[in-house]
Amino acid sequence: MKKIFLYLLFSIVLSCLTFAQTTYTPQQNMKYLTSSPLQGRNAGTKGDSLAQIYIVENLKSLNIKPFYTDYLQPFTSKMETMRGGDLISSKNVIGWIEGTDSVLKKEFIIICAHFDHVGLEKGRIHPGANDNASGVITILNIAKMIQQNPLKRSVLVIFFGAEEKGLLGSYYFVKKAKFPLKTIDAVFNFDMVGKLKQEGTLYSKGEQTAKIFSELLEKYAAKYNVKYEVSPFNYMNGSDHYPFYRKRIPVLFFNTGLDWDNYHQPSDLPEKIDYEGIELISKIGFDLITEVGNKTEKLKFNKK
Ligand SMILES: [Zn+2]
Repeated sequence: MKKIFLYLLFSIVLSCLTFAQTTYTPQQNMKYLTSSPLQGRNAGTKGDSLAQIYIVENLKSLNIKPFYTDYLQPFTSKMETMRGGDLISSKNVIGWIEGTDSVLKKEFIIICAHFDHVGLEKGRIHPGANDNASGVITILNIAKMIQQNPLKRSVLVIFFGAEEKGLLGSYYFVKKAKFPLKTIDAVFNFDMVGKLKQEGTLYSKGEQTAKIFSELLEKYAAKYNVKYEVSPFNYMNGSDHYPFYRKRIPVLFFNTGLDWDNYHQPSDLPEKIDYEGIELISKIGFDLITEVGNKTEKLKFNKK
């Protein structure tokens, strides 16, 4: 009897644990990241820390390991302002999916998205659903697929902090990398990707940095029936791929328009996000990244 009771108890605990591990849907992640306790995820605030902890829990639920000793990489960097330079402290969240090829696994593919936003302005929360909870849920989708189908090369899944303060997290990561930067094959950055249906087009930036990128974008966008164009905006330095680009690493940036009506506004809300579009972009990203991550030859940086 006691044994049966223990067995039942064990089963209940196990099913609860399993349930807890499967509750991170894109919609739930979006809801939490844009919720009022996070206060718009301004770098250095309590909401910023809560977002980091939550993303770590997501990575653990996917069985994705930390790359450094911890998932969190703290940094304090100077934000260039009119007043001189304010110090900002935040953390990057970094996960690692080891490559399957004994030689190629020493090279890295980076998939990244910033998780911070602009916080409170005039007492109003800026939830940052499109900018950039959309990118966070997209790279979690892609990371989940890669974890289930690992690539020959190793993959770093990086959620950058303090992007809105001037790409502080990504500059720090590049500056303090504990491995040679030349072992990074390519960087895929997702920033504001939640408006595919509204915009009707998936935009890229950086496609010239490796000869194969345009061809792959055309191929996989067509596979999922998504209209694709090179971004009309000249904002190479507008997001976290830029510090890598400066180091002559091939970078590819995914975006669904700047969404000017809601850009950095309290109206950048979760109910305006196109989740089906995010699924499509995740699939395009996964296929494209898989092809690059399994190529025999390393990509060559091409500045044009
Ligand atoms: Zn952004």
